[in-house]
Amino acid sequence: MTFSIDLSGKKGIIFGVANHRSIAWGISKILAEAGAELCFTYLNERLKKPVEKTVSEIGNPLLLECDATDENQVENVYKTVKNKYGNIDFIVHCIAFAEREDLGGNFSETNLSGFRTALETSAYSLIPVVGKSIDLFGEDGGSVITLTFDASQRVYPGYNIMGTAKAALENEVRQLAVEFGGKNIRINSISAGPLPTLAARSIPGFSEMNKAHRERSPLKRNISHDEVAKTALFLLSDMSSGITGANIPVDAGYGIIAL
Ligand code: NAD
Repeated sequence: MTFSIDLSGKKGIIFGVANHRSIAWGISKILAEAGAELCFTYLNERLKKPVEKTVSEIGNPLLLECDATDENQVENVYKTVKNKYGNIDFIVHCIAFAEREDLGGNFSETNLSGFRTALETSAYSLIPVVGKSIDLFGEDGGSVITLTFDASQRVYPGYNIMGTAKAALENEVRQLAVEFGGKNIRINSISAGPLPTLAARSIPGFSEMNKAHRERSPLKRNISHDEVAKTALFLLSDMSSGITGANIPVDAGYGIIAL
């Protein structure tokens, strides 16, 4: 039996493309190849040009400014999308940020402002992104994915407050999956191994983390953007229709290793 995933006629919104290295972009390319129609958001005016340049590779998609921590901006984006496309089928949430001073050093020195910034951007943002989307999905429901990291469960020195944010994000995935399951809206996370992106570059010790994954994971290598993207394609398609509230590791198996 041969299966391939065809997303022709499906539409979705991608949050979190910053440049061609973004995980969101890796996911977008595979979704576009599968036939999906995509629209994108970018954080602010400064990022508009690089995002425009990146997404032009797949044509001239709708591109809207959105700070996802602001529920009014999320609502406005959804109104515009609804007017242009009608119902959509999926949402990709690939958003995270922490102040540089709150990554590395002693976790106990995290200040309230840094805690708020990291949690608001990296965890809270999923709440309006999912919560405001109800009218955007049709009667068949839809699928949402977000990106997390193993530091939600185990300590990665340097990742600090982002570990706390990822733990909160994973909990939100479960709560949202229960709340929206009745509308057949599925919400899952992918726990990706380290990938060299803009966000990853600000994590002290990222190259050691990368090396540890390469040397100690059962597959003895790092993962690729494509491997995360293929799992995203599965989770956003009907092939995963029975899965919600789950956290799927794409980490070359690193998460099962104790020593
Ligand atoms: P990236 O820097 O390319 O993407 C992060 C995105 O978040 C950027 O596009 C940025 O504009 C966006 N963003 C930040 N604040 C925002 C806000 N308030 N509103 C809307 N957008 C905002 O880096 P990435 O590595 O592709 O990160 C994507 C996701 O993958 C993040 O959640 C990250 O934690 C997660 N992740 C990354 C790795 C890795 O090693 N790179 C591993 C596991 C999980």
